[in-house]
Amino acid sequence: MMLRQLTAKSYLLALSLFGLLLFALFGFNLLLRGDAVEEIILQEKQQAAKAELRRAVTTVIDDAQQILEELAQWDEIHQQLGDPTHYVYWREMRLHKSQQFPAYLRGMELYSRERKALVELPYQSFPATLPGRRLTLTSREGREYLVAYGPIPDRNGGTDVSGYLGIQIDFAQAIRQLNRFVEIDPKSLDLGFVRDGPVDVGSLVSNIDYALVEEPTASRLGSILVSSLRDFFLLFATMLVVFYFTVSLLFVRPLAQLERYIDRLRHGGREGPVLSVKSLPAVAELVTVRDSLEEYQRELDMARTRLDKQNIELWDLAHEDSLTGVKNRLAFDEDWKELIALARDKRIDISLMLLDCDFFKAINDTYGHEVGDRVIQSIAESLQEVLREGEQLYRLGGDEFTTVLINAGRDEAHQVALRCVESVQHHAFKQLGIKETIKLSVGLAHANGIDIANLSELPRQADVAMYHAKSSTRDKIVHYVPNLEQDAAALVSNRIVGAVLHALESGEGIEMHYQPLVDTNGQRPEYYEALVRINEPGGLIRPVDIFPIIARRRLDVELDKAVLRAVEKDLQSGLFPQGAGVSVNISGALLALNDFCEFFGGLSKYLDRHPIIIEITETSFISHLQHASDCLRKMRQNGFLVALDDFGSGYSSIRYLANMPVDIVKFDISMVHDLNKDQRTRIIVEHAANMITTAGYKLVAEGIENAEILQRAQALGPSHLQGYLFGHPKPLRMFADA
Ligand code: C2E
Ligand code: MG
Ligand code: MG
Repeated sequence: MMLRQLTAKSYLLALSLFGLLLFALFGFNLLLRGDAVEEIILQEKQQAAKAELRRAVTTVIDDAQQILEELAQWDEIHQQLGDPTHYVYWREMRLHKSQQFPAYLRGMELYSRERKALVELPYQSFPATLPGRRLTLTSREGREYLVAYGPIPDRNGGTDVSGYLGIQIDFAQAIRQLNRFVEIDPKSLDLGFVRDGPVDVGSLVSNIDYALVEEPTASRLGSILVSSLRDFFLLFATMLVVFYFTVSLLFVRPLAQLERYIDRLRHGGREGPVLSVKSLPAVAELVTVRDSLEEYQRELDMARTRLDKQNIELWDLAHEDSLTGVKNRLAFDEDWKELIALARDKRIDISLMLLDCDFFKAINDTYGHEVGDRVIQSIAESLQEVLREGEQLYRLGGDEFTTVLINAGRDEAHQVALRCVESVQHHAFKQLGIKETIKLSVGLAHANGIDIANLSELPRQADVAMYHAKSSTRDKIVHYVPNLEQDAAALVSNRIVGAVLHALESGEGIEMHYQPLVDTNGQRPEYYEALVRINEPGGLIRPVDIFPIIARRRLDVELDKAVLRAVEKDLQSGLFPQGAGVSVNISGALLALNDFCEFFGGLSKYLDRHPIIIEITETSFISHLQHASDCLRKMRQNGFLVALDDFGSGYSSIRYLANMPVDIVKFDISMVHDLNKDQRTRIIVEHAANMITTAGYKLVAEGIENAEILQRAQALGPSHLQGYLFGHPKPLRMFADA
């Protein structure tokens, strides 16, 4: 079960509320206990009061008894008993005026031996005859009196009594005077209920009303408790508030601050409010976290800067043409798409200019790859010199360049094109050892403010214009007009371009034709060279038309892949001559790939039945010498053979050959046909052939068209011969027909 996550603030709040709740429970419990304690104290006090009252009552009774006994011993009493003549006077004088008796003694009566009062007075408070009970209570004039009787012993000895004595004691006064009360408030004693009758301590005590002495501690216990609780609550609440704000200030807020800070870091430090962790409180742990975070952010910033730099470098690398330093095809495609999006709804004139060097392949072949590269670089420099600021030059591949002219109509664009052509024409190519004049063909296409919607059509239109410029010797700058599309040549061109592109996209129409290579003796086909054709309704498209399109669009790898698939399919069909080898032409672009070897996985399955030869041209080999050598070495280890194609058409440097993992060298047609030239050339070719065969390479002579060339070629000591004399390239189905 997932615990719901709460914020630190919520936890803090919950903790504080929990503290308050605990306090409330504790306070309530304390109040209950306080009440119980108060009750117990009250009960104990009442018991103590009862005992105190009992003692007080007993004291009064005992005191009455003692007075009786003392009076019984008094001489004057005995005298009165003997001669009661002045009894009334005596009693008045002695009892009330002498003050020798306690104030609470309020009355006294003497009785004769016969239990009769000495003097019978109608207002007398004592009965005329001594009553049977020795103690009675009586109420008179709103006061309660204890009446006690006792015998007066005879002084002559014996058991006789000389009379009896009765005394009246003011009970309330006596009880207060004789006792010191602790528990009972003496003023509150109330005996108003007393009736005449017998006296016993128990009933007397239970009938006396009284109030307890006010006990300050006990009675105020509750309020003390409540006020203590209130004070404690205030203290506790204050502490809670202080605790809440301290924790909030020291931890919760900084945590939230750190959280926002980290969140911002997570979003690359570029989004969200700019926060400063500098304002965090000085808590050691937080300061450590802050320092670590700042350190981390510094490292992150540095890493990000490095990455940004690398990204820019990588982007530049990906969008830059490594040979010339101008932007490449990828950059053009992206910029063009962006321009189409931007220019929509805007009434501006845009011209697209395609520039292509005439006869560049011939220059490359004649002067070699290195010179070819420098020619391309020089063309790029010359063009950049005349292009204005903001007119970006792109190299689309090979010798083809392009630029987009914004706010340039037909005339302005023509002027720019003219400047480009002249700039290249006047460049000092002679310094590179080139004798011929290097010329450009330019194709221009325009979109003005009105037909801006046709912007995406511009590259194709510029292509058509370029085609015309190429095929014309006079008009080297051609502007696209719809009429050009009517032109048969242009139509063919467009048809071929469309067919080639469609074949590569869909894989349809690619057809391999196979040309035999025969051994010199038996003239038996030992293997066949696979040569690509594209089959379309208008006829077969041959390499001479296919490769310029492929090169312009840099589709070499795509074509190689399609060819390898087609050859594999043909081997799989079972129509291929049993045991015969097959040689496949591979472009330099594929050879440059890191995973070159992996493209041959499909073919390697047939190695046990058919020798497979990989044909690489000298130029593509030398362009990636180290990588090519590694790859081809590996391929040879896997059982493939490697042939160096078109030897003699490019560098023709035997120096390189020694380092190349090659089994077969194929002499280019031009080289073979050179045998028909002057003797000197023939001797050079023958010596080259001799060196190659002596070094252990197999030699193939291409372009054997007739018996004469055959005869001369045989003098080279080749292992195989190839040419129309032995067979034209033909599709696989024709092997089945044969
Ligand atoms: P290559 O590899 O040197 O192929 C030999 C070319 O010479 C073929 O032209 C062939 O038809 C032609 N040929 C054969 N015998 C004679 C002859 O007696 N006289 C003359 N004048 N020509 C002869 P093709 O098929 O037009 O191919 C031209 C070039 O295109 C090839 O030269 C090769 O470099 C390239 N190519 C052809 N097919 C492929 C392919 O499948 N992949 C790649 N990457 N390149 C290919
Ligand atoms: Mg070949
Ligand atoms: Mg060749």
